Amino acid sequence: MNASQLDVAVVGAGALGLFTAYSLARRGANVVVYEAEPFENLRNASWGNAGHIIPIMSVPIASPANIKAAATGIFKKGSFIRVPTQIDSHTVGFMLEFFKTSRRSKWLTGLAALHDLNARALAEFEEIQASGVDCGFERAPFVSAFETVDAARGQMADHVDATAAGASLSMDLLSKSRLHELEPLSRSVGQFGLMMNEQGLVQPPLMLDSLMGTLGSLGVRLVQDAVTEILPTSSGDVKLEFARLPSAIHQKVVVATGAWLDQLSSDHGVQPKVLAGFGYSLQVDVPSLPQGMLYFPEAKIATTRLGDSLRISTLLQIDKPGAAFDQKSGQLLENNARRVLPMAQWETVRNKWHGGRPISSDGIPIIGETRTANVYVNGGHGMWGVTLGPISGRLLAEAMLAEDPEISVPGFSARRSA
Ligand SMILES: Cc1cc2nc3c(=O)[nH]c(=O)nc-3n(C[C@H](O)[C@H](O)[C@H](O)COP(=O)(O)OP(=O)(O)OC[C@H]3O[C@@H](n4cnc5c(N)ncnc54)[C@H](O)[C@@H]3O)c2cc1C
Repeated sequence: MNASQLDVAVVGAGALGLFTAYSLARRGANVVVYEAEPFENLRNASWGNAGHIIPIMSVPIASPANIKAAATGIFKKGSFIRVPTQIDSHTVGFMLEFFKTSRRSKWLTGLAALHDLNARALAEFEEIQASGVDCGFERAPFVSAFETVDAARGQMADHVDATAAGASLSMDLLSKSRLHELEPLSRSVGQFGLMMNEQGLVQPPLMLDSLMGTLGSLGVRLVQDAVTEILPTSSGDVKLEFARLPSAIHQKVVVATGAWLDQLSSDHGVQPKVLAGFGYSLQVDVPSLPQGMLYFPEAKIATTRLGDSLRISTLLQIDKPGAAFDQKSGQLLENNARRVLPMAQWETVRNKWHGGRPISSDGIPIIGETRTANVYVNGGHGMWGVTLGPISGRLLAEAMLAEDPEISVPGFSARRSA
């Protein structure tokens, strides 16, 4: 299809929606992005995340190891895994599908599919940055500061499987003294370390602002309103209904509504369910910044250099996408972070945030055309939606322009059964 004749609506201005809009507009399509929240004050998952671009860690979230960690962690005091605040039939359905998928054979199939996306993730950021979208992307090491050998074995097991699936990794094991020398912030608890070289990091708020600025210069319209329904028309176009605005007709629609994906996609036969895997983050000043990303696996505390301070994030709490900020979870993040980072200037804490990772019930992204012609989905990227944002956006844009229901990397079909 000639892209300049294509009129596309993208619903949702998170990383997945904006990178898809960017790839479509760069290829000449006329694009409108509809977003429920004000564009100048977006606080979605793509804004508040840790900004780690670490393809080798992007593995399917539905796994026997995660089920075991959830089953033991949920009852542990101070655990990063919390019980949902509301349990309804949708949540129960999600849980049942998630458990059903958490088998090693399924995990390995998902891992192989993800490998093909992961392999292109860093290069895609480099290209986008070079083309003028300032995501704050840079190559940087990712250092894990371990307290126990068991935690290191768990992390290494995933890396070994990812490597067996084709990923490459340059990694250094660090003695205690080397770890403390390279990352002084690890001093309180780190007994030894593992450094993955040449990973990436972005500055999430800058990435969103810069993407929206570039979209404006490419002629993309950014319209604030919530889409309430997506309906096929007899002419093959698609009609959107809104909370406030009158309805609009577009040739194609991409649903990229993050943890809210089901609300618009399930009517179009998308079977994997999506729930929010809430995480919390905050910002604090520290006496010295990490080289890039510093992770405390036992405490599940992820840190990133954000400007001249540190963003700290953690927690996985499956819940409804609109669930309110939970003071207890916010406090838990701070308590766990204070334990591993006592040297941070805790009186400077700011930007306390929570947001929902879109977790799919089979643990891998959903990308492609739904059972309704011209209605597409790009979502369910879980823990790694920023890492996979640019590549998912490009592959979906290419599939849409080729009028192909599937992206060129198999495994993520929006028509798969749950
Ligand atoms: C604490 C934390 C740390 C993380 N760290 C990392 C990391 O280091 N690296 C990484 O790669 N990933 C990370 N993630 C995951 C990543 O943030 C998500 O996978 C990604 O941001 C999801 O992007 P999205 O565009 O699908 O959803 P979102 O960013 O949530 O965007 C969806 C948008 O759709 C809008 N919307 C919803 N419904 C409608 C509607 N009906 N009409 C119009 N608009 C609508 C919402 O308002 C929202 O703005 C982290 C997540 C969390 C919570």
